[in-house]
Amino acid sequence: MILTKLRLHGFKSFVDPTELHIAPGLTGVVGPNGCGKSNLLEALRWVMGETSAKSMRGSGMEDVIFAGAATRPARHFAEVSLSIDNSARRAPAAFNRYETLDVIRRITRDAGSAFKANGDDVRARDIRMLFADAATGAHSPALVRQGQISELINAKPTARRSILEDAAGIGGLYQRRHEAELK
Ligand code: ATP
Ligand code: MG
Repeated sequence: MILTKLRLHGFKSFVDPTELHIAPGLTGVVGPNGCGKSNLLEALRWVMGETSAKSMRGSGMEDVIFAGAATRPARHFAEVSLSIDNSARRAPAAFNRYETLDVIRRITRDAGSAFKANGDDVRARDIRMLFADAATGAHSPALVRQGQISELINAKPTARRSILEDAAGIGGLYQRRHEAELK
């Protein structure tokens, strides 16, 4: 699965619709302090199913919605969409019939957030599983937050182990085993 395009609308500082094409290979984002580099990475984690507002640097999840500026009123919703090239057919069964996957997460004030995949309503769990299997996702070690390197160095062994398991792409297996045990 290859991430090809990220679109933001009303997400944090990206109040107007913004589209970012992700070229093959390494992508660097450069810009002055406060221009929104970290917000872009947070948008990626959010559309992959991030549940922790704190790790999005907010006190509640609605803090990802554009909060207004001197010349612009606040927005009522935020939306992030991620396009994925699935031509190698690596997505879980529920999604694998699609050559291109468009995952959308939208949050509306007072109404919470919801996911869609190629236009169909999907559960947050399925989205998290999709990215867990691809060894990417909201908690993936492929996305390195500011300050995360020092956190890793200071982490307890069990926390460090879970990072390695996510890197190996087996995080989704634990989730499935846990759910099988509950059945
Ligand atoms: P640095 O180089 O310092 O790490 P950065 O490019 O990573 O900077 P970000 O942290 O992504 O910058 O962006 C911070 C900006 O986003 C701030 O100006 C902040 O006011 C703005 N911002 C964050 N959340 C919102 C929101 N909900 N509504 C409007 N603006 C927001
Ligand atoms: Mg930053």
